[in-house]
Amino acid sequence: MTAQILDGKVIAARVRAEVKTDAEAFAKAHGRSPRLEVVLVGEDPASQVYVRNKEKAAHEAGLRGSVIRLPATTSQAELLACVEALSADADVDGILVQLPLPAGFDAAAIVDAIDPQKDVDGLHPVNAGLLSTGGKGLRPCTPSGCMRMLREAGVDLRGKRAVVLGRSNLVGKPVALMLLEEHATVTIAHSRTVDLAAECARADVLIAAVGKSRLVKADWVKEGAVVIDVGINRGEDGKLSGDVDFDAVKEKASWLTPVPGGVGAMTIAMLLRNTVDAAVQRARG
Ligand code: NAP
Repeated sequence: MTAQILDGKVIAARVRAEVKTDAEAFAKAHGRSPRLEVVLVGEDPASQVYVRNKEKAAHEAGLRGSVIRLPATTSQAELLACVEALSADADVDGILVQLPLPAGFDAAAIVDAIDPQKDVDGLHPVNAGLLSTGGKGLRPCTPSGCMRMLREAGVDLRGKRAVVLGRSNLVGKPVALMLLEEHATVTIAHSRTVDLAAECARADVLIAAVGKSRLVKADWVKEGAVVIDVGINRGEDGKLSGDVDFDAVKEKASWLTPVPGGVGAMTIAMLLRNTVDAAVQRARG
């Protein structure tokens, strides 16, 4: 079988267009566009690129907002004060603190200071709790992007065996909970899993979020499985690769996401989605 490629750029463009329409409707109803504030601490080059892309995408979708750039010498107390001020500002709908923070910061304490209703990264413990109890909080962007891609591929998850590789709070755990919510039978595998290949080979839906280039080989994949590759790994040649051995797995899977141009393209689109949803939810009171 040769896999159909799930094109993240095409699906992300669809999400962005939906967000733009909804942002315009919000502006008409409330006399102001949804506003996203991104906080960047330090000079990390990759974070600078991510933040620039988020700012550009937000403006293209008709959102207001800016990037608050703070020097690496900023103290924990100063960053906390910045986040608390944004949380208290009624004109701000979404707050994103770009992670990872430079060494020395207590990132969990910073995330805790974000108003959960403005937590567009979906990482606040209140939102993580709402996800695990089936509530309607803001959800992490990358896992939401994976779920949207599965929907676009027409995958019915009910009763399917799903395997998630990776158990981070950012990707693995939340995507596993979202799959469970859609009635899949979910296994979460990680670095201590015994016989990873055998676990993966049972999956109807396999989500790889590990951070190890081409870890998932063709013989780890069941014929006809749907494979979502979250991994982004930069090789010594500067080229990006996923956690899945794309060329080999493409001959086994029914659907497969590429890297780049797969899940990565979805993450910013879902951030914009969360910002408009946060604005609408807050306006309802
Ligand atoms: P993370 O916090 O480093 O978590 C990696 C997970 O993979 C951990 O649970 C770890 O297990 C597991 N793992 C590591 N090596 C393994 C191995 N050899 N076999 C089995 N499991 C292994 O990473 P993350 O933040 O979840 O990100 C995962 C990947 O997705 C990275 O490549 C990252 O760049 C990418 N990512 C992409 C996007 C996007 O927009 N597409 C967004 C976020 C992340 P233990 O828990 O046992 O250590």
